[in-house]
Amino acid sequence: RAKSAGGNRFELADPEADARAITRHGLTTALPAALDRGEFFIEYQPLVHLGDGSVHGAEALVRWLHPQHGVLGPDQFIPLAEHTGLIVPLGRWVLEQSVRQARQWQERHAGPAPLRINVNLSPCQLTHPGLVQDTVDILEREGLDAGALCLEVTESALIGADDDLLKPLRRLAEMGVDIALDDFGTGYSNLANLRRLPVSILKLDRSFTQGMQQFPADPVDLKIVEGIVSLAHSLDLAVTVEGVETGAQAEQLRILGCDTAQGWYYARPGPPERLHELALVDAAG
Ligand code: C2E
Ligand code: MG
Ligand code: MG
Ligand code: MG
Repeated sequence: RAKSAGGNRFELADPEADARAITRHGLTTALPAALDRGEFFIEYQPLVHLGDGSVHGAEALVRWLHPQHGVLGPDQFIPLAEHTGLIVPLGRWVLEQSVRQARQWQERHAGPAPLRINVNLSPCQLTHPGLVQDTVDILEREGLDAGALCLEVTESALIGADDDLLKPLRRLAEMGVDIALDDFGTGYSNLANLRRLPVSILKLDRSFTQGMQQFPADPVDLKIVEGIVSLAHSLDLAVTVEGVETGAQAEQLRILGCDTAQGWYYARPGPPERLHELALVDAAG
């Protein structure tokens, strides 16, 4: 904000922007040590079948317990980690922790099917040459079946992706790892493009779910979701919906044929023991 006073023109800095820049700088420089000091932790949010609400897995969502600022969400530090390259070791750490956790759930939980784990991948990890080998090593070391892992990549990261970028994803998909297209519907990608992506799951963005808040839902939103679901199913893709906050939304999305869901209506992200409890309750009931 430029202000003038007394005829002399001079710039007054925006104190809020300054504070943000200082915080950003502080967080950025603190990131590498934070990984060494074990300040990151992971919350898990259940993924449920829309048909019966049973838990079939969880998405890993990273948080930073900052010594001064308290718990920071990924939106506050993932972009900084991407910018500095720390996302590669951080992402590897998240993958390792999550895979280990999934293995523990599977050992303790004898449900009808082994619990699954979804892990988010940043575009920077996609271009890192170690991705496939790191994933293979982690799965092997922790003893988790590749089929129990789903890697989530945002639609925007794959728009216009060339073959070099898709190659590691293809290798992972051939091993049996599921690839999900995250935040689907926000990226304006060419729907026909879906055919050449090694993707088996579409995660419909929360913005669509928001359109289902009323019952009956907005008719245009209904038509759009209906179209996406039928296209996805005709391409053999499963549809997961994000951000389900009410029973009405869950019901609409179930009627529209969506397969699985995630949202506060079922459970907020939480510690790993919480998922174990939910899955156990589920298996008992
Ligand atoms: P995402 O992968 O689309 O994850 C879903 C986000 O929606 C999460 O936010 C989750 O807490 C939130 N959410 C879940 N259910 C509801 C609901 O019913 N209502 C509302 N309003 N929100 C809901 P979160 O944890 O803040 O994560 C934000 C984003 O950060 C994630 O979006 C993902 O893109 C990224 N992220 C999280 N963990 C990691 C990670 O380990 N690595 C990378 N590269 N990115 C991550
Ligand atoms: Mg995700
Ligand atoms: Mg998402
Ligand atoms: Mg999202």
